[in-house]
Amino acid sequence: MSERILVTSALPYANGPLHIGHIAGAYLPADTFVRYKRLDGTDVIYVGGTDEYGTAIEIKAIKDGITPRELVDFYYEDMKKDFKNLGISFDNFSRTSLKVHHETSQDFFLKLVENGHIVKKTVTQAYCPKCSMFLADRYVEGTCPECKALDQKGNQCEECGKILEPMELIDPRCITCSTHPEVKETFQWFIRLKDFQDELEDWMKSNTHWRPNVVNFCLNWIKQGLQERAITRDLKWGIPVPLEEGKDKVLYVWFEAVIGYVSSSKEWAQKQGKPDAWKDYWLDGKIIHFIGKDNIPFHAMMWPAFLLGYGNYEGKNWKLPYDVPANEYLNIGGRKTSTSRNWAIWLDDFLKDFPPDYLRYYLTSIAPESKDTDFFWEEFQKRINDELNDIIGNFIHRSMTFSFNNFEGKIPQMDSALVDADDREAINAMHEIGEKVGTLINNFKMKDALKEIISFAKMCNRYFDKKEPWKLVKNDKAKAENAIYISLELSKTLSIILNPFLPFSTEKILNQLGITSFSWGDSGEFLLVQRKKLSKPEPVFFKVSDEEIKHQIQKLDSPEPMKKTIVNKEVKLVSFEDFQKLDIRTGKIISVEDHPKADKLYVIKIDVGEERTIVAGIKGHYDKTELIGKNIVAICNLEPAKIRGIESQAMILAADDGKLVSLLEADRDTKIGSKVR
Ligand SMILES: [Zn+2]
Ligand SMILES: [Zn+2]
Repeated sequence: MSERILVTSALPYANGPLHIGHIAGAYLPADTFVRYKRLDGTDVIYVGGTDEYGTAIEIKAIKDGITPRELVDFYYEDMKKDFKNLGISFDNFSRTSLKVHHETSQDFFLKLVENGHIVKKTVTQAYCPKCSMFLADRYVEGTCPECKALDQKGNQCEECGKILEPMELIDPRCITCSTHPEVKETFQWFIRLKDFQDELEDWMKSNTHWRPNVVNFCLNWIKQGLQERAITRDLKWGIPVPLEEGKDKVLYVWFEAVIGYVSSSKEWAQKQGKPDAWKDYWLDGKIIHFIGKDNIPFHAMMWPAFLLGYGNYEGKNWKLPYDVPANEYLNIGGRKTSTSRNWAIWLDDFLKDFPPDYLRYYLTSIAPESKDTDFFWEEFQKRINDELNDIIGNFIHRSMTFSFNNFEGKIPQMDSALVDADDREAINAMHEIGEKVGTLINNFKMKDALKEIISFAKMCNRYFDKKEPWKLVKNDKAKAENAIYISLELSKTLSIILNPFLPFSTEKILNQLGITSFSWGDSGEFLLVQRKKLSKPEPVFFKVSDEEIKHQIQKLDSPEPMKKTIVNKEVKLVSFEDFQKLDIRTGKIISVEDHPKADKLYVIKIDVGEERTIVAGIKGHYDKTELIGKNIVAICNLEPAKIRGIESQAMILAADDGKLVSLLEADRDTKIGSKVR
């Protein structure tokens, strides 16, 4: 049986837009890995979703004057769009506010209770007398007792990573009103992590293939002794504790968010129409969690503890994480990214100014795999211009243009009898590079993999220069054909091995070469069809100018003030029941007449299983003859309306961006009068 892998990226917290620090840590390396695995033919799925509960979301919603629900709905869509634009290819992008996640989290909670790993305890908790409420960890701010960093939240120190209890902070204060909190009694449920101490230690020591920073962090943590940790809170915005006595409490977000990986996998399986398929991965596959280093304790210690504590699922054990590749931080221009201080490069902003592959390229080349690294705009420009353009793009573009201009726009033919030592060396490198790069990606060494690709591209350039095809084409055309044919094959190889890193541009290049489907193994094979027509080569990469960089640096130094999350309140959610009330059908346009009393209106007769008359304002957009015979989609149970004296008995659906109106058409084979669902 072949390997099955489930890859996750840390669930982004839905209280603000994505910045490039997020991307470098948990998303881009995961996506590169998954894209490679798909090409390699591995059975791999990649799941994620937004983390939508917890106090930070409540706090942000209060600040922005909207409800937590409105806030998370907004950022779910926003992040989904950003990920798509960057080419982060989730197989499923879920949300922790979905029913499937509530049920899965509550199931985990109840199983842990049943197995005796959860205890109820009276606790003293920070309470703000002025706000009359218990203060969850993040509602308390103060100085870190460990490293003395100022203004740290009561759950974890951002500076030194220490996990905190709010009242451990020096000079704690309520974040809403700055009052010094009191301490009051309440009760919460706790997970007894020490039940798993020995098992976790043995397991951690057996993880010799993990990054040492992760293993060392965890072993150090275990050595200090695993403490009981509260997994419930006195809050409203969250997943209810599934016990009668806990009805005013919710599951603590650190407890339920990691379970989101299972929920997202279940949702993926449901969408596939194979509701049990998620079990193949969670009970029989390899689970890999890509995260930033601040998430190490939750993924490498506590999450495995939940999985152990759950006991078996339908007779099988849950798979503990196969690996937890945690990345260090990406700083910006020598300073730590800080969204609260507005020192960040927002993904959405970046993608307005540069192609997604530029970011993917540069972030991989400075990936914070073993230590913190820095994003510098000047270095971004240099890498894009000197490497992506001058080494990679240049080789591919000159091979293709040379071929197009000198061999009747066709891919040349190779004569094996004329292959010389230089050709052979290049061909051998082509055979070998895929495995070299693949091994590095398998070991999550994306930066080294990219370096390997660049040195391969340099070799390609050296080959081209040494062959001097511009001379050969005049005096030894057959040898010129060989050199260019090999150069095109090398371009194909470069594109395939770069595909997991630069999916957008490599697909364009491969398309120009006439390749639409390919596997990782194809990188080492001769794949081009000789004498096949090439499409006219278009450069895929462009240089970044000094002005553009100056502009970006200026923007970073004087950012616009952080905007509130503006939610368009006019968009009201419609219930599924309401939607079902609509009678939407497919139909055909039978006839079109001008409206006798209006310049811009047509009177259209349609067949939707019966004949209906419609008055429609599409005269400026379609000629009468264009419309007749079109298969359309119409809403058939709207109240009839008289428009300039003629009764309109349905409404045909069209897309309208404010300028262009285009009718929604049903497939040619659609049966007239079919219900649209
Ligand atoms: Zn600290
Ligand atoms: Zn207060």
